[in-house]
Amino acid sequence: METRLDRYEGVRENKINQLKELIDKYDNIVFLGGAGVSTESGIPDFRSGDGIYNQESGFAYRPVDIISHSFFVEHPEEFYDFYKRKLLYPDAKPNKAHYALARLERQGKLMAIITQNIDRLHQDAGSKNTIELHGSVFRNYCMDCGKKFKLDYVVESDKVPRCDKCGGIVRPGITLYEENLEHDKVDAAIKALKKCDLLIIGGTSLTVYPAATFSQFIKHDRIVIINKSSTYLDLSAMLTIHDSIGYVLESAVPKRRSPEQLEHARKVAAKREAAKKRKATMDARKEKEG
Ligand SMILES: [Zn+2]
Repeated sequence: METRLDRYEGVRENKINQLKELIDKYDNIVFLGGAGVSTESGIPDFRSGDGIYNQESGFAYRPVDIISHSFFVEHPEEFYDFYKRKLLYPDAKPNKAHYALARLERQGKLMAIITQNIDRLHQDAGSKNTIELHGSVFRNYCMDCGKKFKLDYVVESDKVPRCDKCGGIVRPGITLYEENLEHDKVDAAIKALKKCDLLIIGGTSLTVYPAATFSQFIKHDRIVIINKSSTYLDLSAMLTIHDSIGYVLESAVPKRRSPEQLEHARKVAAKREAAKKRKATMDARKEKEG
């Protein structure tokens, strides 16, 4: 007799098969991800039930207030106390989701990863084209002279890290509340979205600007959602999977490609290379004429 669990497993398998087919069909895939991609690496997210925003923090301020520009400027000591204890996970390792996406890029299918995460785990897994919308905890700089510092310098500092050259406050290269995102990153993300033929959105509840608005750049019937909880795009997306992103991507991205698939990937890469060359030639001509 078929049990409820069997039916559930059947639906699960069916959805993963659908995702496999889509990955097979499209050659210009973009992944847009959020905190849910890193929770399986032991980094808590912000908004879910046991996320950072809902934890009993023991801090006198709300986390959303602490991670803001004005709070950082006015209370750098409290900011760094919270930051070092709650936002830094220097020992976290990539999980199945990160590795599956890196594999998909190597297979010539995935063109870009747009991430809201600041933990560098995509790069650690081997991904090359990663757009870090909110910056990275690994890039730190002096607010006065601009000198750059590694994460270790911040971790090992007593309270507020100070520049060893000029004594200025060293700040993390992440975008705080009240600050604008870096234009070149937003531009690169929009460019990738406009060019892609399949957008996989994973591990984000799609509530944070600007990621929440990115879906406008692609037809909703070219969007796949993988997230544990529901999002506003669930019903209009082509495929919605409420499941563990590590499990889903690990199952849907093939370990190896067949000879036919490899041949296809080579052709796609050659076409892209030719288009790039044509564009470079045209740009050079324009420059000459203009
Ligand atoms: Zn300095």
